Amino acid sequence: MNYLSTRGAGAGERHTFSEILLGGLAKDGGLYLPADYPRVTPDELTRWRTLPYADLAFEILSKFCDDIPADDLRALTRKTYTAATYCNVRDDESAAQITPLKTLGVEDGAPLSLLELSNGPTLAFKDMAMQLIGNLFEYALAKHGETLNILGATSGDTGSAAEYAMRGKKGIRVFMLSPHKKMSAFQTAQMYSLQDPNIFNLAVQGVFDDAQDIVKAVSNDHAFKAKYKIGTVNSINWARVVAQVVYYFKGYFAATKSNAERVSFTVPSGNFGNVCAGHIARMMGLPIEKLVVATNENDVLDEFFRTGIYRVRKAAETYHTSSPSMDISKASNFERFVYDLLGRDPARVLQLFRDVEEKGGFDLAASGDFPRVKEFGFVSGSSSHDTRVDTIRDVFQRYDTMIDTHTADGVKVAREHLQPGIPMIVLETAQPIKFGETIREALLREPERPAAFSGLESLPQRFEVVPADAQRVKDFIVANTGE
Ligand SMILES: *Cc1c(COP(=O)(O)O)cnc(C)c1O
Repeated sequence: MNYLSTRGAGAGERHTFSEILLGGLAKDGGLYLPADYPRVTPDELTRWRTLPYADLAFEILSKFCDDIPADDLRALTRKTYTAATYCNVRDDESAAQITPLKTLGVEDGAPLSLLELSNGPTLAFKDMAMQLIGNLFEYALAKHGETLNILGATSGDTGSAAEYAMRGKKGIRVFMLSPHKKMSAFQTAQMYSLQDPNIFNLAVQGVFDDAQDIVKAVSNDHAFKAKYKIGTVNSINWARVVAQVVYYFKGYFAATKSNAERVSFTVPSGNFGNVCAGHIARMMGLPIEKLVVATNENDVLDEFFRTGIYRVRKAAETYHTSSPSMDISKASNFERFVYDLLGRDPARVLQLFRDVEEKGGFDLAASGDFPRVKEFGFVSGSSSHDTRVDTIRDVFQRYDTMIDTHTADGVKVAREHLQPGIPMIVLETAQPIKFGETIREALLREPERPAAFSGLESLPQRFEVVPADAQRVKDFIVANTGE
């Protein structure tokens, strides 16, 4: 499998899966995609229907990765997708399924269900990919006798998913910056209670943007970055995207009886990583009718799919909402879809994303390409705090099921795109306990707490308070890498 950049530099250069595994952007600033999407045959679909999650993941990853020996790859997926890791489920039978499908009911003739993606260690869907990345990184580093120091900034979800994926991994340290005293007690406890010696929590005296600026400053010091082997695990990482393709197949098999049926998926979206994986599953030949992009008040993506105009927001125009993991000003994985939409024309992609940098966006409304979003199955919608709260309440009353704020955005928008006879699967991206305040507002009761999390907030915490100063963070890294 050969990978290329969406911006086309170095066309003809070959990149394998392992070469791009530890990297982020391509050298020309583009994102990596396979030169061709692998297709699934009807026979494969039939055979895959009954596979356990780990083996399905192996089959799908094998199509994108031909430079890790099959036995090793199979061992990695089996180590990652175990019932013991995805054990934070509503009922015991479903843990073995890793991503159980929970049926809600039939609305407007369409079976409506939730695909539970948040049963992993941090109760958000990012665990699905991040846990695999942890094992893949450890494997790749050991093979070459290398080490990696992951540096990141988080306001909650991503940082904890990365820490739980990397804890105890040989050759890897994590330096995670978070804004001091700005996260919820639950989120803070999730991260700071980790006692693993390779995990370092740095509480920055400032806001999230200060933490983010420090990461940028350290990464721009190329000499420091090279000497201390600084890397990242952000949402544009190709392996993260491809790991997410698996649960679209798993969800399809759970919702259908034969490969002649089609289903639709609704995806609570921020950086377009999750729904990009759905797009890839569809390009591989999975019978997906619609891919519904659900946004919150930060409706950059909904605006594009309705109008053809992609207009990124300034920091001051980004709303802080009650579905905070979808609060984005631009969607970092969107370029991958635009590349396919434009018929894989790297020169045009380069121009459009230059326009994003220089003019804040681009307009495809008048181009012949925009109508093709329908051929790719895409539709969209957005939600607000009020509709979110109403949806949480409605789903609880009607189906006795408590959903989190991001999943509520998904259900709200899914209901605008139901088609009789076509199952609608909403991806459940987090558990309610992570966003307790809005649950209490909607339901006047406490969110459900998985047993493993009882007393989390009273565990001892391990973190270092640092001023918002890049040099102090560098000093900390130097002092703790022993190199
Ligand atoms: C990250 C996240 C999202 C958004 O996913 P993208 O891949 O960035 O589109 C949605 N919901 C939750 C709970 C998340 O953590």
